[in-house]
Amino acid sequence: LVIGVPHEIYQNEKRVALTPENVKTLMQKGFKEIYIEEGAGKGAKFLDSQYIEAGAKIGTASEIFKKSDILLKVRGLQYNSSLGKHEVEMLKEGATVISFIFPAQNQELIKLLSQKKATALAMDCIPRISRAQVFDALSSMANIAGYKAVIEAAAVFGRFFTGQITAAGRIPPCKVLVIGCGVSGLAAIGTAKNMGAIVRAFDTRAAAKEQVISMGGEFLEVHVKESGEGSGGYAKTMSKEFIDAEMALFLKQCKDVDIVITTALIPNQKSPILITKEMVEAMKPGSVIVDLAAENGGNCELTKPGESYNHRGVTILGYTDLPSRMSTQSSTLYSNNLTKFLLSITGGEQNTFKLDFTDEVIRGSTIVNKGMLIWPPPKKAIA
Ligand code: NAD
Repeated sequence: LVIGVPHEIYQNEKRVALTPENVKTLMQKGFKEIYIEEGAGKGAKFLDSQYIEAGAKIGTASEIFKKSDILLKVRGLQYNSSLGKHEVEMLKEGATVISFIFPAQNQELIKLLSQKKATALAMDCIPRISRAQVFDALSSMANIAGYKAVIEAAAVFGRFFTGQITAAGRIPPCKVLVIGCGVSGLAAIGTAKNMGAIVRAFDTRAAAKEQVISMGGEFLEVHVKESGEGSGGYAKTMSKEFIDAEMALFLKQCKDVDIVITTALIPNQKSPILITKEMVEAMKPGSVIVDLAAENGGNCELTKPGESYNHRGVTILGYTDLPSRMSTQSSTLYSNNLTKFLLSITGGEQNTFKLDFTDEVIRGSTIVNKGMLIWPPPKKAIA
Protein backbone atom coordinates (compact mmCIF):
# COMPACT_ATOMS: atom_id res chain seq x y z
CA LEU A 1 0.00 0.00 0.00
CA VAL A 2 1.34 3.40 -1.00
CA ILE A 3 0.89 6.27 1.47
CA GLY A 4 0.88 9.85 0.20
CA VAL A 5 1.10 13.19 2.02
CA PRO A 6 0.35 16.27 -0.10
CA HIS A 7 1.09 19.87 0.78
CA GLU A 8 -1.87 21.55 2.53
CA ILE A 9 -3.34 24.12 0.14
CA TYR A 10 -5.85 25.80 2.52
CA GLN A 11 -4.94 29.48 2.90
CA ASN A 12 -2.31 30.06 5.63
CA GLU A 13 -2.33 26.38 6.64
CA LYS A 14 1.14 25.48 7.87
CA ARG A 15 0.52 22.04 9.30
CA VAL A 16 1.53 18.78 7.64
CA ALA A 17 -0.19 15.44 8.23
CA LEU A 18 2.91 13.29 8.77
CA THR A 19 6.24 14.09 10.45
CA PRO A 20 9.57 12.49 9.46
CA GLU A 21 9.51 10.68 12.83
CA ASN A 22 6.20 9.02 11.94
CA VAL A 23 7.43 8.16 8.44
CA LYS A 24 10.08 6.11 10.26
CA THR A 25 7.42 4.48 12.47
CA LEU A 26 5.28 3.49 9.49
CA MET A 27 8.30 2.13 7.57
CA GLN A 28 9.27 0.05 10.62
CA LYS A 29 5.71 -1.32 10.68
CA GLY A 30 6.06 -2.58 7.13
CA PHE A 31 4.92 0.22 4.81
CA LYS A 32 7.36 0.32 1.93
CA GLU A 33 6.38 3.37 -0.07
CA ILE A 34 5.61 6.75 1.48
CA TYR A 35 5.49 9.82 -0.77
CA ILE A 36 5.66 13.38 0.57
CA GLU A 37 4.98 16.35 -1.67
CA GLU A 38 8.02 18.57 -2.15
CA GLY A 39 8.02 21.23 0.60
CA ALA A 40 4.93 19.80 2.34
CA GLY A 41 6.61 20.01 5.76
CA LYS A 42 8.20 23.42 5.26
CA GLY A 43 5.51 25.41 7.11
CA ALA A 44 5.98 23.13 10.13
CA LYS A 45 9.79 23.27 9.86
CA PHE A 46 10.24 19.71 8.57
CA LEU A 47 12.65 19.57 5.63
CA ASP A 48 12.44 17.33 2.57
CA SER A 49 15.90 16.00 3.52
CA GLN A 50 14.53 14.81 6.90
CA TYR A 51 11.72 12.93 5.14
CA ILE A 52 14.21 11.33 2.72
CA GLU A 53 16.43 10.33 5.63
CA ALA A 54 13.38 8.74 7.30
CA GLY A 55 12.76 6.63 4.18
CA ALA A 56 10.15 8.65 2.26
CA LYS A 57 10.28 9.69 -1.39
CA ILE A 58 9.57 13.25 -2.52
CA GLY A 59 7.11 13.84 -5.36
CA THR A 60 4.80 16.36 -6.98
CA ALA A 61 1.14 16.79 -6.00
CA SER A 62 -0.08 15.03 -9.16
CA GLU A 63 2.24 12.05 -8.59
CA ILE A 64 1.18 11.70 -4.98
CA PHE A 65 -2.55 11.83 -5.69
CA LYS A 66 -2.17 9.38 -8.60
CA LYS A 67 -0.10 6.81 -6.68
CA SER A 68 -1.52 6.85 -3.15
CA ASP A 69 -3.76 4.10 -1.84
CA ILE A 70 -3.94 5.99 1.46
CA LEU A 71 -3.81 9.77 1.40
CA LEU A 72 -3.07 11.51 4.72
CA LYS A 73 -4.10 15.14 5.16
CA VAL A 74 -4.91 17.71 7.82
CA ARG A 75 -7.68 19.69 6.05
CA GLY A 76 -10.39 18.07 3.95
CA LEU A 77 -9.76 17.86 0.21
CA GLN A 78 -10.56 21.08 -1.64
CA TYR A 79 -10.34 22.83 -4.99
CA ASN A 80 -6.72 23.46 -6.01
CA SER A 81 -6.80 26.76 -7.87
CA SER A 82 -3.18 26.60 -9.05
CA LEU A 83 -3.82 23.21 -10.70
CA GLY A 84 -7.35 24.16 -11.75
CA LYS A 85 -9.01 21.05 -10.32
CA HIS A 86 -10.50 19.64 -7.14
CA GLU A 87 -8.18 17.42 -5.10
CA VAL A 88 -10.84 14.70 -5.19
CA GLU A 89 -10.57 14.62 -9.00
CA MET A 90 -6.83 13.93 -8.62
CA LEU A 91 -7.38 10.95 -6.28
CA LYS A 92 -6.69 7.42 -7.45
CA GLU A 93 -10.01 5.58 -7.92
CA GLY A 94 -10.91 3.67 -4.76
CA ALA A 95 -8.27 5.40 -2.59
CA THR A 96 -8.71 6.07 1.13
CA VAL A 97 -8.38 9.56 2.59
CA ILE A 98 -7.86 10.26 6.28
CA SER A 99 -8.17 13.92 7.34
CA PHE A 100 -10.40 16.35 9.18
CA ILE A 101 -13.68 16.44 7.22
CA PHE A 102 -16.44 17.96 9.43
CA PRO A 103 -19.10 16.15 7.34
CA ALA A 104 -22.08 18.14 8.65
CA GLN A 105 -20.57 21.31 7.16
CA ASN A 106 -19.08 19.73 4.01
CA GLN A 107 -21.83 17.92 2.15
CA GLU A 108 -20.42 18.82 -1.27
CA LEU A 109 -17.04 17.23 -0.49
CA ILE A 110 -18.75 14.04 0.66
CA LYS A 111 -20.70 13.89 -2.59
CA LEU A 112 -17.49 14.20 -4.61
CA LEU A 113 -15.77 11.51 -2.53
CA SER A 114 -18.73 9.17 -3.09
CA GLN A 115 -18.65 9.77 -6.85
CA LYS A 116 -14.93 8.90 -6.85
CA LYS A 117 -15.73 5.60 -5.02
CA ALA A 118 -13.32 6.73 -2.31
CA THR A 119 -13.23 5.73 1.34
CA ALA A 120 -12.99 8.66 3.74
CA LEU A 121 -12.28 8.64 7.45
CA ALA A 122 -12.75 11.84 9.45
CA MET A 123 -10.36 12.51 12.33
CA ASP A 124 -13.02 14.88 13.71
CA CYS A 125 -15.60 12.08 13.99
CA ILE A 126 -13.52 9.69 16.10
CA PRO A 127 -15.71 9.07 19.17
CA ARG A 128 -14.26 10.71 22.29
CA ILE A 129 -14.05 7.45 24.30
CA SER A 130 -11.09 6.44 26.50
CA ARG A 131 -9.77 3.77 24.11
CA ALA A 132 -9.66 6.32 21.27
CA GLN A 133 -7.85 9.04 23.22
CA VAL A 134 -4.59 8.29 21.38
CA PHE A 135 -6.33 9.08 18.07
CA ASP A 136 -8.14 12.19 19.36
CA ALA A 137 -6.76 14.89 17.08
CA LEU A 138 -9.62 17.30 17.92
CA SER A 139 -8.47 17.33 21.54
CA SER A 140 -4.81 17.67 20.52
CA MET A 141 -5.68 20.72 18.42
CA ALA A 142 -8.06 22.19 21.03
CA ASN A 143 -5.33 21.92 23.68
CA ILE A 144 -2.97 23.91 21.46
CA ALA A 145 -5.71 26.42 20.59
CA GLY A 146 -6.41 27.07 24.30
CA TYR A 147 -2.73 27.67 25.02
CA LYS A 148 -2.22 29.85 21.96
CA ALA A 149 -5.37 31.89 22.71
CA VAL A 150 -3.74 33.10 25.93
CA ILE A 151 -0.43 33.81 24.18
CA GLU A 152 -2.22 35.83 21.45
CA ALA A 153 -4.19 37.73 24.11
CA ALA A 154 -0.98 38.48 26.02
CA ALA A 155 0.66 39.81 22.86
CA VAL A 156 -2.13 42.39 22.42
CA PHE A 157 -2.77 43.17 26.10
CA GLY A 158 -0.70 46.12 27.27
CA ARG A 159 0.06 44.88 30.79
CA PHE A 160 1.66 42.04 32.76
CA PHE A 161 -0.44 38.97 33.56
CA THR A 162 1.08 38.55 36.98
CA GLY A 163 0.76 41.12 39.79
CA GLN A 164 3.98 42.80 40.91
CA ILE A 165 5.16 45.20 43.57
CA THR A 166 7.98 47.30 42.13
CA ALA A 167 9.75 50.49 43.11
CA ALA A 168 7.79 52.19 40.34
CA GLY A 169 4.46 51.12 41.79
CA ARG A 170 2.08 48.25 42.51
CA ILE A 171 0.82 46.32 39.48
CA PRO A 172 -2.43 44.38 39.93
CA PRO A 173 -2.70 40.93 38.34
CA CYS A 174 -4.64 40.62 35.10
CA LYS A 175 -8.10 39.02 35.40
CA VAL A 176 -9.11 36.41 32.85
CA LEU A 177 -12.58 34.94 32.28
CA VAL A 178 -12.81 31.64 30.39
CA ILE A 179 -16.24 30.61 29.08
CA GLY A 180 -16.54 26.90 28.25
CA CYS A 181 -14.22 24.53 30.10
CA GLY A 182 -13.73 21.68 27.64
CA VAL A 183 -10.30 20.81 26.29
CA SER A 184 -9.39 24.26 24.97
CA GLY A 185 -10.94 26.11 27.92
CA LEU A 186 -8.98 24.06 30.46
CA ALA A 187 -5.76 24.59 28.48
CA ALA A 188 -6.45 28.35 28.50
CA ILE A 189 -7.12 28.31 32.26
CA GLY A 190 -3.86 26.43 32.95
CA THR A 191 -1.81 28.75 30.73
CA ALA A 192 -3.28 32.00 32.10
CA LYS A 193 -2.88 30.75 35.67
CA ASN A 194 0.75 29.78 35.05
CA MET A 195 1.37 33.28 33.72
CA GLY A 196 0.13 34.69 37.01
CA ALA A 197 -3.39 35.88 36.14
CA ILE A 198 -6.49 35.58 38.31
CA VAL A 199 -8.65 33.13 36.36
CA ARG A 200 -12.41 32.70 36.57
CA ALA A 201 -14.33 30.20 34.49
CA PHE A 202 -17.86 29.16 33.64
CA ASP A 203 -19.36 26.07 32.05
CA THR A 204 -22.86 24.61 31.87
CA ARG A 205 -21.58 21.15 32.84
CA ALA A 206 -21.27 20.68 36.61
CA ALA A 207 -18.43 18.17 36.02
CA ALA A 208 -16.24 21.06 34.85
CA LYS A 209 -16.20 22.63 38.33
CA GLU A 210 -13.71 20.18 39.83
CA GLN A 211 -11.42 20.43 36.78
CA VAL A 212 -11.41 24.24 36.87
CA ILE A 213 -10.57 24.25 40.59
CA SER A 214 -7.79 21.69 40.08
CA MET A 215 -6.24 24.02 37.46
CA GLY A 216 -6.26 26.87 39.99
CA GLY A 217 -9.28 28.71 38.56
CA GLU A 218 -12.39 30.00 40.32
CA PHE A 219 -15.60 28.38 39.06
CA LEU A 220 -18.48 30.81 38.64
CA GLU A 221 -22.09 29.68 39.03
CA VAL A 222 -25.61 31.00 38.41
CA HIS A 223 -28.67 30.61 40.59
CA VAL A 224 -30.60 28.59 37.94
CA LYS A 225 -30.14 24.88 38.54
CA GLU A 226 -30.04 22.91 35.29
CA SER A 227 -27.82 20.05 34.15
CA GLY A 228 -25.70 20.95 31.12
CA GLU A 229 -24.77 17.35 30.37
CA GLY A 230 -26.15 15.93 27.11
CA SER A 231 -25.62 12.46 25.65
CA GLY A 232 -22.12 10.97 25.82
CA GLY A 233 -20.98 13.66 28.30
CA TYR A 234 -21.24 16.40 25.64
CA ALA A 235 -22.91 19.74 26.29
CA LYS A 236 -26.59 20.25 25.52
CA THR A 237 -28.58 23.34 24.60
CA MET A 238 -29.65 25.15 27.77
CA SER A 239 -33.02 26.74 28.56
CA LYS A 240 -33.54 30.44 27.85
CA GLU A 241 -33.73 31.06 31.59
CA PHE A 242 -30.26 29.56 32.11
CA ILE A 243 -28.70 31.42 29.16
CA ASP A 244 -30.20 34.71 30.42
CA ALA A 245 -28.74 34.04 33.87
CA GLU A 246 -25.26 33.25 32.54
CA MET A 247 -25.32 36.31 30.27
CA ALA A 248 -26.24 38.52 33.24
CA LEU A 249 -23.21 37.04 35.01
CA PHE A 250 -20.98 37.72 31.98
CA LEU A 251 -22.13 41.36 31.78
CA LYS A 252 -21.07 41.85 35.40
CA GLN A 253 -17.76 40.04 34.77
CA CYS A 254 -17.01 42.03 31.62
CA LYS A 255 -16.93 45.22 33.71
CA ASP A 256 -14.24 43.69 35.91
CA VAL A 257 -12.01 41.36 33.85
CA ASP A 258 -9.28 42.29 31.34
CA ILE A 259 -9.39 39.25 29.07
CA VAL A 260 -12.27 37.00 28.02
CA ILE A 261 -11.61 33.69 26.25
CA THR A 262 -14.71 32.02 24.85
CA THR A 263 -14.80 28.36 23.78
CA ALA A 264 -18.49 27.42 24.23
CA LEU A 265 -19.51 24.69 21.85
CA ILE A 266 -22.38 22.26 21.46
CA PRO A 267 -21.50 19.49 18.98
CA ASN A 268 -23.02 19.91 15.49
CA GLN A 269 -24.61 23.24 16.32
CA LYS A 270 -23.82 26.87 15.69
CA SER A 271 -21.98 28.34 18.69
CA PRO A 272 -24.20 30.21 21.17
CA ILE A 273 -23.79 34.01 21.31
CA LEU A 274 -22.87 34.71 24.91
CA ILE A 275 -20.94 38.02 24.70
CA THR A 276 -23.05 40.84 23.28
CA LYS A 277 -22.07 44.26 21.95
CA GLU A 278 -23.29 45.74 25.25
CA MET A 279 -20.86 43.49 27.17
CA VAL A 280 -17.94 44.42 24.88
CA GLU A 281 -18.74 48.08 25.46
CA ALA A 282 -18.77 47.45 29.22
CA MET A 283 -15.14 46.25 29.10
CA LYS A 284 -12.23 48.58 29.88
CA PRO A 285 -10.27 49.99 26.92
CA GLY A 286 -7.25 47.77 26.32
CA SER A 287 -9.20 44.60 27.18
CA VAL A 288 -9.02 41.58 24.87
CA ILE A 289 -11.53 38.93 23.80
CA VAL A 290 -10.33 35.76 22.11
CA ASP A 291 -13.23 33.94 20.47
CA LEU A 292 -12.18 30.35 19.83
CA ALA A 293 -15.60 29.54 18.45
CA ALA A 294 -15.13 32.04 15.60
CA GLU A 295 -15.12 29.41 12.85
CA ASN A 296 -18.44 28.11 14.06
CA GLY A 297 -20.18 31.48 14.17
CA GLY A 298 -18.48 32.79 17.31
CA ASN A 299 -19.51 33.27 20.95
CA CYS A 300 -19.16 37.05 20.69
CA GLU A 301 -21.63 39.10 18.68
CA LEU A 302 -18.86 41.32 17.24
CA THR A 303 -16.34 38.62 16.24
CA LYS A 304 -15.04 38.72 12.68
CA PRO A 305 -13.84 35.19 11.88
CA GLY A 306 -10.14 35.08 11.01
CA GLU A 307 -9.57 38.70 11.99
CA SER A 308 -8.40 40.95 14.79
CA TYR A 309 -11.01 43.65 15.26
CA ASN A 310 -11.08 46.64 17.58
CA HIS A 311 -14.36 47.92 19.01
CA ARG A 312 -14.09 51.03 21.20
CA GLY A 313 -10.65 50.04 22.49
CA VAL A 314 -11.44 46.35 23.02
CA THR A 315 -9.58 43.95 20.73
CA ILE A 316 -11.58 40.93 19.57
CA LEU A 317 -9.43 38.14 18.14
CA GLY A 318 -11.39 35.77 15.89
CA TYR A 319 -8.45 33.73 14.66
CA THR A 320 -9.50 30.39 13.22
CA ASP A 321 -5.98 29.05 12.70
CA LEU A 322 -4.59 28.91 16.23
CA PRO A 323 -3.16 25.34 15.93
CA SER A 324 -1.56 26.27 12.59
CA ARG A 325 0.13 29.23 14.33
CA MET A 326 2.07 26.59 16.31
CA SER A 327 2.63 24.40 13.29
CA THR A 328 5.53 22.26 14.49
CA GLN A 329 3.74 21.31 17.71
CA SER A 330 0.34 20.80 16.09
CA SER A 331 1.77 18.78 13.19
CA THR A 332 3.65 16.56 15.63
CA LEU A 333 0.57 15.80 17.71
CA TYR A 334 -1.73 15.44 14.69
CA SER A 335 0.74 13.12 12.99
CA ASN A 336 1.04 11.00 16.16
CA ASN A 337 -2.77 10.71 16.41
CA LEU A 338 -3.09 9.88 12.71
CA THR A 339 -0.25 7.33 12.67
CA LYS A 340 -1.68 5.47 15.66
CA PHE A 341 -5.12 5.50 14.05
CA LEU A 342 -3.78 4.19 10.73
CA LEU A 343 -1.81 1.44 12.44
CA SER A 344 -4.90 0.39 14.40
CA ILE A 345 -6.68 -0.14 11.06
CA THR A 346 -3.95 -1.70 8.92
CA GLY A 347 -2.65 -4.25 11.39
CA GLY A 348 1.06 -3.55 10.84
CA GLU A 349 3.29 -5.82 8.74
CA GLN A 350 0.66 -7.10 6.35
CA ASN A 351 -0.54 -3.63 5.38
CA THR A 352 -4.03 -4.88 4.78
CA PHE A 353 -6.58 -2.13 4.88
CA LYS A 354 -9.81 -3.56 6.16
CA LEU A 355 -12.37 -1.52 8.02
CA ASP A 356 -13.94 -3.43 10.89
CA PHE A 357 -17.35 -1.84 11.32
CA THR A 358 -18.02 -3.69 14.56
CA ASP A 359 -15.39 -1.37 16.04
CA GLU A 360 -17.24 1.77 17.19
CA VAL A 361 -14.18 3.97 16.60
CA ILE A 362 -13.93 2.93 12.94
CA ARG A 363 -17.69 2.96 12.41
CA GLY A 364 -18.02 6.40 13.98
CA SER A 365 -15.23 7.94 11.90
CA THR A 366 -15.97 6.43 8.47
CA ILE A 367 -17.92 8.90 6.36
CA VAL A 368 -17.77 7.20 2.96
CA ASN A 369 -16.95 3.51 2.39
CA LYS A 370 -15.99 2.61 -1.20
CA GLY A 371 -18.21 5.39 -2.45
CA MET A 372 -21.13 4.67 -0.14
CA LEU A 373 -22.15 7.39 2.32
CA ILE A 374 -22.46 5.76 5.74
CA TRP A 375 -22.46 8.85 7.96
CA PRO A 376 -23.96 9.61 10.41
CA PRO A 377 -23.60 6.16 11.97
CA PRO A 378 -26.58 4.55 13.70
CA LYS A 379 -26.71 5.78 17.32
CA LYS A 380 -26.02 2.37 18.86
CA ALA A 381 -22.79 1.99 16.82
CA ILE A 382 -21.17 4.78 18.82
CA ALA A 383 -23.08 4.35 22.08
P1 NAD B 1 -15.32 21.02 24.03
O1 NAD B 1 -16.57 20.39 23.53
O2 NAD B 1 -14.30 20.18 24.72
O3 NAD B 1 -15.69 22.24 25.02
C1 NAD B 1 -16.71 23.15 24.80
C2 NAD B 1 -17.28 23.53 26.16
O4 NAD B 1 -18.26 24.53 26.02
C3 NAD B 1 -17.95 22.35 26.87
O5 NAD B 1 -17.32 22.13 28.12
C4 NAD B 1 -19.39 22.81 27.05
O6 NAD B 1 -19.99 22.32 28.23
C5 NAD B 1 -19.21 24.31 27.04
N1 NAD B 1 -20.46 25.04 26.76
C6 NAD B 1 -21.43 24.75 25.84
N2 NAD B 1 -22.42 25.68 25.91
C7 NAD B 1 -22.05 26.56 26.87
C8 NAD B 1 -22.66 27.74 27.40
N3 NAD B 1 -23.84 28.18 26.96
N4 NAD B 1 -22.01 28.39 28.39
C9 NAD B 1 -20.81 27.96 28.85
N5 NAD B 1 -20.19 26.85 28.40
C10 NAD B 1 -20.81 26.17 27.41
O7 NAD B 1 -14.67 21.79 22.83
P2 NAD B 1 -13.14 22.18 22.64
O8 NAD B 1 -12.46 21.03 22.00
O9 NAD B 1 -12.59 22.76 23.89
O10 NAD B 1 -13.29 23.31 21.55
C11 NAD B 1 -13.88 24.54 21.91
C12 NAD B 1 -13.99 25.47 20.71
O11 NAD B 1 -12.72 25.81 20.21
C13 NAD B 1 -14.76 24.86 19.55
O12 NAD B 1 -15.66 25.82 19.03
C14 NAD B 1 -13.67 24.50 18.55
O13 NAD B 1 -14.16 24.47 17.24
C15 NAD B 1 -12.75 25.64 18.80
N6 NAD B 1 -11.37 25.51 18.29
C16 NAD B 1 -10.90 26.64 17.70
C17 NAD B 1 -9.64 26.67 17.15
C18 NAD B 1 -9.16 27.96 16.55
O14 NAD B 1 -8.13 27.98 15.87
N7 NAD B 1 -9.86 29.04 16.75
C19 NAD B 1 -8.85 25.50 17.18
C20 NAD B 1 -9.34 24.34 17.82
C21 NAD B 1 -10.63 24.36 18.37
